[in-house]
Amino acid sequence: MALITCQEALDLVATHIATLSPRTDVERVPLEQALGRVLAEPIYADRDQPPFPRSARDGYAVRAADHGVRRLVGSVRAGEIWMGAPLAEGETIEVMTGAPAPDGADAVVMLEHVEATAAEVRISGNHLPRAGDNVVPRGQEARAGDVLLRAGIRLTPAEIALAASVGAAELDVYTQPVAAVLATGDELVAVNRTPAPHQIRDSNSHVLAALVSQHGGVPRLLPPALDTRESLLEHITTARDARLLLLSGGVSAGKYDLVEDVLLSLGAEFYFTGVLIQPGKPVVFGRLPATDTHSEQWIFGLPGNPVSTLVTALLFAMPMLQALGGELSPQPRFVQATLAAAVKVRPGLTRFVAAKLSSSLHAVKVEAVGSHGSGDLAGNARADGYIVVPPDVESLAPGATVTVLLR
Ligand code: AMP
Ligand code: MG
Repeated sequence: MALITCQEALDLVATHIATLSPRTDVERVPLEQALGRVLAEPIYADRDQPPFPRSARDGYAVRAADHGVRRLVGSVRAGEIWMGAPLAEGETIEVMTGAPAPDGADAVVMLEHVEATAAEVRISGNHLPRAGDNVVPRGQEARAGDVLLRAGIRLTPAEIALAASVGAAELDVYTQPVAAVLATGDELVAVNRTPAPHQIRDSNSHVLAALVSQHGGVPRLLPPALDTRESLLEHITTARDARLLLLSGGVSAGKYDLVEDVLLSLGAEFYFTGVLIQPGKPVVFGRLPATDTHSEQWIFGLPGNPVSTLVTALLFAMPMLQALGGELSPQPRFVQATLAAAVKVRPGLTRFVAAKLSSSLHAVKVEAVGSHGSGDLAGNARADGYIVVPPDVESLAPGATVTVLLR
């Protein structure tokens, strides 16, 4: 199969995401445990928000059209309501931030803009109120019954606050999808074993498990498979009931790269088997179709070099995992930043250059970390993202605006 561009590969994943049937498995969780989960029900405003005309300042409620010194007739704090008569001409009532504006008042003058005695309030000449000043009208933020959050969004602290404000003490969220993680390679040993000089520890299982957890899934780690048909077949079969299978290693063109062959023998179909990117060129995306006993299983064969595994998982596999978790239109996270130092690459492929961001109030800068390629986990750990260098670009000068894939 021909190599395709990075954009084509992202589009293909998105196309297949669009074919997924809607999620139905739901569990109810307390709001305190809902962070990071995907909402499975709409959340409605239970009443107008704000539920009363709310003073936005500490100050004095007035009728904006009145003139001159106001007579101070009372005080309302947050949590109270003015029980007296509606504000009459020339009157004012002291109000605190968050208090309901008394009936008859149409503006609040900030404390800082008046001279007040126990009986009178004089508004300074350059702060004469206009109707509406510092009063949030009832229902301005939401009307009772409005949809505030839709099913399919991932709950961040902002959505948690909104859910709390409408009394959603428990929420329906989708159950988390299981992603099986299978490293392949004769050279691999588990992290708790001492590798012989010619062996290496299996780090890919762990980066993938961590990514799965971070993106809302439940990782199921399998022991690494050997580079033999029998071992691959056995392990892949064990993983068959997971919705997503993340393989690492064994997808290049080498003699012992048997992952694709074995998947084919199991009936897999492939949507791409190589992308014009570096690192990660041999990445494979496919699917085992549903059978009488199993639902369809989405498969990513990720190249074994640890940085390739991470970058291709971020670009292609995590959006699929998030979609399986019920998230609507998940995408890899890209930001734009200003390049702090020149970057030079060989053109021809879309490159992902390990880089460190430094953000301040008015600028996001990014600089390559000087990594030694797709096996360099130490260099990779000094980065927090990857500068995306388009295939037709050989060098980027300091000051250039670049796209960065975030981790
Ligand atoms: P492969 O894609 O199988 O050709 O592997 C490419 C490189 O990545 C080789 O140097 C492997 O030893 C290394 N590698 C493969 N799988 C893993 C793994 N699970 N953990 C760490 N390194 C790996
Ligand atoms: Mg290998």
